[in-house]
Amino acid sequence: MDLLLNEEQRMLASSLRAFVEQELRPHEAAVDRAGEVPLELGRQIVKRALEMGFYAPNIPESVGGAGLDSVSLAVLEREFGRTSFGLHGFVHRPSEILMACEGEQIERYLRPCVRAERKEFFALTEPGAGSDIMSMQTRAVRDGGDWIVNGSKHFISAPCAADFAIVFAVTGTDETPRGARKRVTAFLIDAGTPGFTITRGPRCAAQRAYPTFQLSFDDVRVPANQILGEEGKGLELAERWLKMGRVWVAAGCCGRAERLLELATEWAATRKQFGQAIGKFQGTSFKLADMATELRAADLMVMHAARKADAGTMQPEDAAMAKLFAAEMVGRVADNAIQIFGGMGLMEDLPVERLWRDARLDRIWDGTSEIQRHIISRSLLRPLGA
Ligand SMILES: Cc1cc2nc3c(=O)[nH]c(=O)nc-3n(C[C@H](O)[C@H](O)[C@H](O)COP(=O)(O)OP(=O)(O)OC[C@H]3O[C@@H](n4cnc5c(N)ncnc54)[C@H](O)[C@@H]3O)c2cc1C
Repeated sequence: MDLLLNEEQRMLASSLRAFVEQELRPHEAAVDRAGEVPLELGRQIVKRALEMGFYAPNIPESVGGAGLDSVSLAVLEREFGRTSFGLHGFVHRPSEILMACEGEQIERYLRPCVRAERKEFFALTEPGAGSDIMSMQTRAVRDGGDWIVNGSKHFISAPCAADFAIVFAVTGTDETPRGARKRVTAFLIDAGTPGFTITRGPRCAAQRAYPTFQLSFDDVRVPANQILGEEGKGLELAERWLKMGRVWVAAGCCGRAERLLELATEWAATRKQFGQAIGKFQGTSFKLADMATELRAADLMVMHAARKADAGTMQPEDAAMAKLFAAEMVGRVADNAIQIFGGMGLMEDLPVERLWRDARLDRIWDGTSEIQRHIISRSLLRPLGA
């Protein structure tokens, strides 16, 4: 990795490594057991991230963010991937689509998120609309100068209940060369708006300290000036966020895989059976070799996508390939790590089982592996008219 980074990015990586190891990692087992991060600890993490200058790392300096380039952001996500996402989540990376805020939305939503005064939910998924987002049922209907929103969202995650939600809702139908298509608009809806309820979702096996919420909208009245971006352009906005999000998930997978590899290597070097370290058995050492090799490949794919993002040339398939490969890679690495640890690997006393559970989510969120394969294959076939 070092070879691919400039001096500033190397320094960022080492200060993040120290922060994660000294200030976050000691809490990861407890927050996983509790299923949440205590608010006081969350506040402490926010304060340190602000002091160290990597809060809102993805938001341009012109609006108060840290303004990191994509390679630096990948470095940051990789380092945070070495610990619980619940703890990482307090070092908030606001949805980049908030950059579409205009007029008074900037002071009301964007800047407070950058200053750590407010947090948002990114609310796209619904009980009946996961991978197939066009089956979305949440609707908004115009009523004078307002919109009335009805519907529900689930699996909406955040380190704790957020202050407002970016909600995607159907606002009509567009005719396109491929037939009729739902018109989707993004709305900014404050918690506490009458008819908008937020409830805690079911307990998840992975990233337990990063809860999900269910949002429901029952005749929620939203003024038209709370549309984010243009009416009918919500999906383009969502796609912008999801595309970069996939690179960050891939970078996090590399961090998780690196930690698993370190743990497994140390175990293989010290655990003795049949009178010798188990790492001397080829059944173990070759697993380590494969884990290290796959991790290297994933790191290179993440850097490739991040560098293209910085050059303004990243395509959806670059992000999809990095996410697909890295998420599948960390799954294999985690499984091998458990095998190398034997029974101890499944015990809650050690971090391996937690990392193994956490890694399982990477193949699902921000688009499943199958959806990434659709994006990649479409990029191959579409130019040929197929
Ligand atoms: C912990 C967690 C946090 C989340 N956070 C958020 C959030 O903050 N905001 C948000 O909007 N969403 C969030 N999500 C939702 C997440 O993005 C979805 O879970 C994901 O997109 C998959 O949707 P689904 O779970 O409904 O699965 P489904 O879409 O029902 O898929 C089920 C299976 O069918 C497969 N499948 C579906 N369609 C196809 C196809 N065309 N071809 C091949 N296979 C297919 C899938 O790959 C998968 O294997 C979160 C999810 C989790 C678990």
